[in-house]
Parts: sequence; structure tokens; C-alpha cells
Amino acid sequence: MHNDEHYMRLALDVAKAGVGQTSPNPAVGAVVVNGGTVVGLGAHLKAGEPHAEVYAIRMAGEKARGATVYVTLEPCSHYGKTPPCADLLIQAGVRRVVVATTDPNPLVAGKGIAKLRQAGIDVDVGVLKDEADELNRMFFHYIAAKTPFVTLKFACSLDGKIATATGESKWITSSAAREDVHRLRAQHDAILVGVNTVLTDNPKLTVRFGEKRKNPLRIILDTKLRTPLDAHVVADKEAETWIITGGVSREQAAAYERLGVRVFSMPTAQIDVRDVLRLLGEQGVMSLFVEGGSRVHDSFLRAGAVNEVIAYIAPKLIGGRGAPTPVGGLGFARLAEAVELDIRRIETIGPDIKIVAAPKRK
Ligand code: NDP
Ligand code: ZN
Repeated sequence: MHNDEHYMRLALDVAKAGVGQTSPNPAVGAVVVNGGTVVGLGAHLKAGEPHAEVYAIRMAGEKARGATVYVTLEPCSHYGKTPPCADLLIQAGVRRVVVATTDPNPLVAGKGIAKLRQAGIDVDVGVLKDEADELNRMFFHYIAAKTPFVTLKFACSLDGKIATATGESKWITSSAAREDVHRLRAQHDAILVGVNTVLTDNPKLTVRFGEKRKNPLRIILDTKLRTPLDAHVVADKEAETWIITGGVSREQAAAYERLGVRVFSMPTAQIDVRDVLRLLGEQGVMSLFVEGGSRVHDSFLRAGAVNEVIAYIAPKLIGGRGAPTPVGGLGFARLAEAVELDIRRIETIGPDIKIVAAPKRK
């Protein structure tokens, strides 16, 4: 059992190579061990490319026969873009398979494990399950809820201000913290902001630090189509942009569509966050990074639609009764209604503090 955890931890580390680049697939790692020697490693790196098991078994070659395979997610049993990994493991003649967590995808959901067992392979399930579930929390949420996993992010001063009373906000946190935000952007399928943030900051919402990657989709909540045609998100062509409206005329939408922007009309005049998430789920958006502003944060929190909160806190005191805070709008009238969070991690990034938290499950 001790050895099982050791090799599963290695498989999880290998899986991490794919985090943020496998959507709509999960990140998966596999390790093949024969006679106490690691003979194969593999990670799923991109949808459409081979699964982790394929690389690991290929590397192991003949040494896969009689080996134990550690895999962070139940091997698939269906023909997708690639043939089933369960069949591959059976053909390779492995003796035992250790699985961290089962695949909630209804096409797999226990069938991969059943297939292996039918072929006489020993299968153990649940080694480092919590870590494996955490690694693919966005994928698991999306499969179960059919709506994207929502990360709400903000940056503020130690006294909880996102700007001064005169509206100055660039920059409250350090460049190291902002670089971290760009890394997080790259790990989500889409970034969402409210139209006021576009009007005030004219953000690009692209990934500009680190390795050049595909930019996430940009989404603006904009009831009456107030986004300027020359805003970066409309004009720069750096990434796809969708504007979600409360229902606008064809002519209004056409000006944006000519620039390659997709305009969606929601069924209600006031855009309902739940409807937005359903729409995005249908469109295959697995993860959403909500970057403000404060009214949008309020709407997402009050809709109970937030899965994770990431706060960057700068060691600065801004003060001022009129200086805005990360969550605006109406907020919660009673303390009993406040969103209670469990803190998952606290890190320092340059001079700033980063807190990762998740709403308590009720
Ligand atoms: P938002 O950016 O949150 O935009 C709010 C507007 O979005 C609404 O007025 C509304 O305009 C539109 N909207 C459409 N549907 C919804 C909905 N369901 N819920 C909420 N809004 C919706 O505006 P804020 O004024 O609150 O915040 C903007 C400020 O926040 C900026 O000054 C910016 O600098 C700051 N900011 C700070 C960040 C930080 O981390 N420090 C991050 C991001 C922004 P309409 O009715 O026209 O559709
Ligand atoms: Zn597979």
C-alpha cells in the first residue's frame, strides 16, 4: 500500500503536465512498474492525442507484461478519438491496475474497471483519490453539472479595496501576482467580465506572461451592447470574444458580428447568471475565470455559482469610504447569508498574499 501511494503520487505529478491544456478532457497520468522498476510513464497532453496509458505502455514495451499500472483516472472503455485504454492494458498483459478515481463520464463510469476485471486483471481503486479528484475538479464539475467550473478572482489591498476613492486601480498588486493571474487565465477555457470593466479598464484579457499559449475565449456580460467597437476585446483579434446581451436587434449585433464577435441574446432582459452558465455548458466551456467587476462578482455569488475564489492581497492600506471593494451590487443583507469559504491554500507571491478558497458545501 505504501508503494502504491508512492507510484500514484508519481502518476499524479506526471498528470500535472497536462493541467490546463487537455480541455474538454481530464489531465491524466500513468506509471508502469515491473519488479520494483519504473518502466513507463505517460500523460494525456491534449484532447485528440493519445491517452496517458498509451504513452506509458508504449514506453514499457515488452516490460508491460506482468507489470502494475498506476493511473490517476479509470482507463476508458469506449471508442472516442482513440481506442479504449482498457483493451490496450489487457492486450499488453499487465497483471494489476491501480486507479486513483473513477471516471464520471457516463461513457466510462465503472465500465473500464469492469472490463479489466473480466479479463482477470487485479484492479484496486481509490489510492490518493482526493488528490486525483482535486486535480480534475473542473472536469468532474463540468461532467456532473453540465455547466462550467467557476473561479472568481480579485486583487485588493489589505483593507479590501480594489481601487482608490478616485478610481485609480493600476496596479494594486505586484507584477509577480499579475503574472500568476495570466497563468490562471491560461488554465481556463474562458474569461468573463462585466461591461463596466470593459468601459473603465479596456482590458485585453489575454495571456501575456510565460509560454505563448492559446488565449481563452473572452466573454462580456453586456445587456444593451455598450461595449465599444474599438475596445481591445472586440478589435484586437487576439482571442475569440462573445458578448452576452439581454436581447438586442439584429442590426445592433451585426456591427459586432462583422468584427468576428458572437452576440448572444438571453431570454430575460436582466441577464441571469444561471442562464449564462447553461449556455456556456452547452457550448462546451468547461471552466470560467471571472475577473470582475464587483457587480458581476456579486451576481455570481448570489446565484451560488462560484466553485473557487482566488484573492490576491497587497500589503497596502488604501482607505476611503468611497473606495470600491471586490464584491459590490446588493451583497447579502444578513450575515447568515454570507458566502462562507474554506481556505484551501495561502501562498505569498512576491510581496503579496494569494488565498485560494472554496465555498463551504451546505
Ligand atoms: P462590472 O464590470 O461588474 O460590470 C457590471 C455591468 O455588467 C452591469 O452594470 C451591467 O451593465 C452588466 N451586467 C450584465 N449582466 C450582469 C449581471 N448578471 N450581473 C452583473 N452585471 C451584469 O462593473 P463594476 O462597476 O462593478 O466594476 C467595474 C470596476 O471594477 C472597474 O472600475 C474595474 O477597474 C474594477 N475591477 C477591479 C478588479 C480587481 O480585481 N481589482 C477586477 C475587475 C474590475 P448593463 O446593465 O449595461 O448590462
Ligand atoms: Zn483512454
